[in-house]
Amino acid sequence: MTTLTWLIIGGGIHGVHIAARLLGEGRVVPEDLGILDPGDHLLARWRDATSATGMTHLRSPSVHHLALPHDALQRFAGKRKNRKPGAFAIPFERPSLELFNAHCDQVERTFDLEARHIKGQAVHCSVECDAVRVRLECGRELEARNVVLALGSSDQPNWPSWAPRDDPRVRHIFDRTPPDWPARPESIVVVGGGISAGHVALRLIKDDHDVHLISRHPLQQHQFDSDPGWLGWKYTELFTQERDVDRRRRLITDARHTGSVPPDMGRSLRRAIARGKLHWHQGEVTGVATDDDALRIMMEKDTVIRGGRILLATGFDRRRPGGAMVDDLIASASLPCATCGYPIVDDSLRWHSRVFVSGPLAELELGPVSRNIAGARRAGDRIVDAIRSGSISDS
Ligand SMILES: Cc1cc2nc3c(=O)[nH]c(=O)nc-3n(C[C@H](O)[C@H](O)[C@H](O)COP(=O)(O)OP(=O)(O)OC[C@H]3O[C@@H](n4cnc5c(N)ncnc54)[C@H](O)[C@@H]3O)c2cc1C
Repeated sequence: MTTLTWLIIGGGIHGVHIAARLLGEGRVVPEDLGILDPGDHLLARWRDATSATGMTHLRSPSVHHLALPHDALQRFAGKRKNRKPGAFAIPFERPSLELFNAHCDQVERTFDLEARHIKGQAVHCSVECDAVRVRLECGRELEARNVVLALGSSDQPNWPSWAPRDDPRVRHIFDRTPPDWPARPESIVVVGGGISAGHVALRLIKDDHDVHLISRHPLQQHQFDSDPGWLGWKYTELFTQERDVDRRRRLITDARHTGSVPPDMGRSLRRAIARGKLHWHQGEVTGVATDDDALRIMMEKDTVIRGGRILLATGFDRRRPGGAMVDDLIASASLPCATCGYPIVDDSLRWHSRVFVSGPLAELELGPVSRNIAGARRAGDRIVDAIRSGSISDS
């Protein structure tokens, strides 16, 4: 059995950044670190999800990236006068997806992270006397003195209950195998009211499709998916002072601008609606009839929309990620959870002396930015601080 000092489960944005931090700042020796992820490459889910939307730029500013120094992405982009047009978008210097991904590649090369990638899915995890034991779907077992759960939510796209799962014309944009992009103009119904739905709709309009967009709510505009105050001490301190985890959950829910689009996207969508390029429908879908050549999407007030295919841009399920693997881990060491099912961890993001969390699983400690790139950086700070303070015995 392979025994490691550190095993990161999940090789997405969070897992890759934390690996870089452990190697670059945490005095972890490369051979002692593994990153377990089922993708052919690290960051595969990030690349699939972002390319499925057609987004050209990130929503977050350029200081949010996977390298160590805060200005690394700006430096990577080179001198302003030599930069490719569109390398950053206003406002807030948001990097292009192309630039951000090239910078991620550089981070991976700097720390030789592909060499640390163990391809596989953890299906069972338990805390033993002096290690955490992880079983993969292929039956192989790994043991690690310390584990970081960086699972993300991308393995659980949110399928509305009315959406049939067995009709190839109905697809979720964040499925593990992303939907094919329609080659010829057709009538397409996009469901969702947030930034991903907006990206998909605008991309389809550009490709001359007949696009319907169904949203539960009116267009909601926010530059970021939570107030920038959450990136500083202003709100974070209030959050930290709140010791009741159920009240923390309510603060997170209130703070996240779920289903919102940035102002420039709002303008593009309104322009498309005004020009008749986008058919906007507000309301709840009640069902879909699939027995015809065209899909018929039923909405409240007897509205029926016809389309050749449905693209669900309904985000991710909010339930705790990790499924049975995390259930087993909880049972093995009686790990504490809040009413919402999410971990109660200490300020070093420790759920157990050998188990750290990041991303959604760290939300009740890091607040509304926990799932984002900024949250990965915060998680990296906390874990590295724990190592430096000597509070991890086997680091
Ligand atoms: C389209 C899109 C655009 C976004 N844009 C921004 C942005 O501009 N700025 C920003 O800050 N945030 C953005 N986000 C939010 C967030 O930063 C991303 O969702 C990010 O990918 C989250 O990273 P992660 O590592 O937590 O999760 P994931 O990307 O989900 O990666 C987790 C990995 O863990 C693996 N995994 C899960 N379970 C197991 C297991 N049992 N065993 C092994 N591996 C496992 C998964 O397969 C996956 O590869 C965006 C999200 C999306 C979907």
